[in-house]
Amino acid sequence: KSTTPITTSKKIVVGTEASFRPFEWRNEQGDIIGFDIELAKEIGAQIGADVEIQNIPFDGLIAALNNKNIDMVSSAMTITEKRKESVDFSKPYFEATQAIVLKKGSSFKSLSDLKGKNVGIQNGTTGQDVVETLMGNRDPHIKRFESVLDALNTLRIDGLDAVVADKPVVQNYLLSNPESQLVLLDDTSFVKEEYGFAFRKGDTELQTQVNEALDKLEKNGKIKELATKYLGE
Ligand code: GLN
Repeated sequence: KSTTPITTSKKIVVGTEASFRPFEWRNEQGDIIGFDIELAKEIGAQIGADVEIQNIPFDGLIAALNNKNIDMVSSAMTITEKRKESVDFSKPYFEATQAIVLKKGSSFKSLSDLKGKNVGIQNGTTGQDVVETLMGNRDPHIKRFESVLDALNTLRIDGLDAVVADKPVVQNYLLSNPESQLVLLDDTSFVKEEYGFAFRKGDTELQTQVNEALDKLEKNGKIKELATKYLGE
């Protein structure tokens, strides 16, 4: 009699940058939670796979995928043409845009006012792209951070003039830190961004399974429920 199991249980290793509340962050117990995490687990349940979460710097997620350290990125990652050169994406599961964060009393009115000012961004993000398009990618006024939290905390202590980052994350920060003396500035030049899960190029099996699961979770109201739970939408 063979003792080799006939089926091995499936596992999806999911990479995320866990300081991006409400999409992914660590609770007081140290567990990584959030909209993206719960959605990834719901998808795992649909597919019949266990989901293991790994915390990885945002600008290292695509490399981690291509090195096969992870199977999927679930990290509020915007679907962009540039990224599509190195990874495949699921269908979009969330819409967002950029926002500018300023100190209260600041006189800047739009993105273009930030040219030549000290602007904080998170490495490897679409916020970085927006600011580099405005200022050139070598302008030393662009201050680069591993996480949006580090950038916002630096803005609070007067180390920066502004931060450009994803609006839902900024809104969440302002709500949870009412003492921050920071304000949000919308700019109509920011385009709509869509978040998607990323896969290794050619991993169409997982991509298809995830897209089918997303369809189901859309139809049964789960995605809506998670948006209400984590974003109040
Ligand atoms: N949505 C932005 C991007 O894809 C930021 C994502 C993030 O920092 N987790 O670049």
